[in-house]
Amino acid sequence: RTVVTGATGNLGRLVVDGLLEKVPAGQIVAVVRDREKAAPLAAKGVGLHVADYGTPGTLDGLFAEGDRVLLISGSEVDKDRAAQHTAVIESARDAGVSLLAYTSAPGKLTAALADAHHGTEKVLLDSGLPYVLLRNGWYNENYTEQLAPVLEHGAVVQAAGEGRVASAARADYAAAAVAVLTGEGHENSAFELSGDTAWSFGEYAAELSRQTGKEIAYNPVTAETYAGILTGAGLPEGLAAILADVDTSIADGELAGTSGDLARLIGRPTTPIADSIAAALKG
Ligand code: NDP
Repeated sequence: RTVVTGATGNLGRLVVDGLLEKVPAGQIVAVVRDREKAAPLAAKGVGLHVADYGTPGTLDGLFAEGDRVLLISGSEVDKDRAAQHTAVIESARDAGVSLLAYTSAPGKLTAALADAHHGTEKVLLDSGLPYVLLRNGWYNENYTEQLAPVLEHGAVVQAAGEGRVASAARADYAAAAVAVLTGEGHENSAFELSGDTAWSFGEYAAELSRQTGKEIAYNPVTAETYAGILTGAGLPEGLAAILADVDTSIADGELAGTSGDLARLIGRPTTPIADSIAAALKG
């Protein structure tokens, strides 16, 4: 069996769809928090297991010997995600799964957000399980799904200076996970996954101008100002601080790496940011 956690999330849904092209639906188990949200997955014939990483008892009976597992990192950044992921890893180890792939963060990332990933990587390595670290770089969609305020104000406001981002589409990272889950010989390796090309926010604004025909400028601000803008727009302070921290990492070049691992794993070039902009503008 192939088990995918976070299967009702944006990445997880794409992974399950990719798996369905390669393995029978009956051999796929989707781990979800909300059975109703998972109805579209059940309709495709995928098995469901309802569990929360933070509630260990709910993981009982989930894994079986020989399963190949994708642990998609949780999104509750106000909680101890490393502890949540540890519960999943221990449950998988006790059941004797044959592979556990984990969606981690780029190895160079120093933003506080990365601590949970580094902690989880250590637990996974110490567990003795055959592992794959999918160190996912940034999604194009982190930006292209947030276009409304940019178009409204005619400005891309970030605290990333001249830093570059080697982002790729979520679908690219999902395809990499599918390749690892369905392929052979990836055990005990770490992939630095990123887009083929790194772009700056100045270039991003120029591409938005080109595609919309409107004047859109990059307005670089300090991390403090950026966090203030985000809280002013209604984001919780903790999340605003995280996003400002990420921009500092971008300014420092920590998300600019172009290892080529992602294109090699999926056997095609990654999706350029311009394509994701076009998709987002089409709605
Ligand atoms: P989503 O927020 O769309 O999905 C997160 C998934 O994790 C959801 O299915 C959610 O369940 C599930 N989840 C969260 N907490 C728990 C928990 N305690 N127990 C069980 N399941 C849980 O994010 P994406 O799919 O876009 O991205 C996947 C992960 O990648 C994120 O969770 C985050 O760790 C990381 N990420 C990476 C980014 C990048 O640019 N590389 C950007 C943003 C996040 P439910 O569907 O019930 O909400």
